[in-house]
Amino acid sequence: MRAAGIGEQGQARLRKARVLVVGVGALGTHSSDALARAGVGALDLVDRDIVEQSNLQRQVLFTELDAEAGTPKAIAAAARLREVNRECVVTAHVANCTAEFLRALPRPDLVLDGTDNFPTRYLINDWCAEQRIPWIYAGAVGSEGASMVLRPGGACLRCLWPEAPANSDVGNCETAGILAPAIAAVTAFQVAEALRILTGSSTPSTRGVFTCDVWRGHYTVITLAPESAIDCPVCRRERFPALTETQPSAVSLCGRDAVQIDPPRRSPADLDALAARLRGVATDVLRTPHLLRFQADGVRFSVFPGGRTLLFGVADPLRARALYDRWIGLS
Ligand SMILES: [Zn+2]
Repeated sequence: MRAAGIGEQGQARLRKARVLVVGVGALGTHSSDALARAGVGALDLVDRDIVEQSNLQRQVLFTELDAEAGTPKAIAAAARLREVNRECVVTAHVANCTAEFLRALPRPDLVLDGTDNFPTRYLINDWCAEQRIPWIYAGAVGSEGASMVLRPGGACLRCLWPEAPANSDVGNCETAGILAPAIAAVTAFQVAEALRILTGSSTPSTRGVFTCDVWRGHYTVITLAPESAIDCPVCRRERFPALTETQPSAVSLCGRDAVQIDPPRRSPADLDALAARLRGVATDVLRTPHLLRFQADGVRFSVFPGGRTLLFGVADPLRARALYDRWIGLS
């Protein structure tokens, strides 16, 4: 409240604010931690993944115990944030972020990008444009990062990048790793802009793209023209491609030897029955409160209620699909 630009009024606005954080990995753990500590009233955290040992170098809300238990990231992050600020209402969503998922959520005042892939960013972009909700892009790889504010009525992500950059162009966390201070630098910009928007202190015209390379010591803000691109389907024709596209049911996860299978027709998977069936044929069968884990054919499976499954130790979506059908085959 003592900070210039916030005051009692700004703090009261933060307390009434609801923020959706999509992806609770490196970016999302940093940003949601800062928002909970700043006194934001409600946070929705969505993430499809589980905590692993290799995350701990940069994903600040998790511990070795979370990695050993394979706790879903959204669950582990929410538990930690409730310890930080019990008045912040934190809701964990262990889910794939899809158009259907977004439509079922309570309307947020702001969306923070904590994802690691462009299909999900286009989905956030199109949904936020349709719903007229501001969102803040963020990305980091190696020692570099970028962030920018995207507002209803201004240029959108598709105006800047009509097509998703190929992973080989931007590098990814597998090829380049991620230096933790790059995450801290990017989320410092992202969270400061979030606080400015939520307290009503932000003016649209001055915002640009923040970029940094923390290893070389470069920090810049490029001011963008606020106008939308002349041929942008979202801004010029009110078409929102990502809200109508069907997502592939098997996708490789960024930077990892892992695939997610999200069956298009969800069945209410009985994980207890599946665990009983697998005992004796698969190894390390473990039923936790949130999922079922087991190992088979040299691959580690984590099955969530509804049938969505992560397979670790396999990179090819087709092979993952075959393994899924062999070991889980819910339908
Ligand atoms: Zn646009």
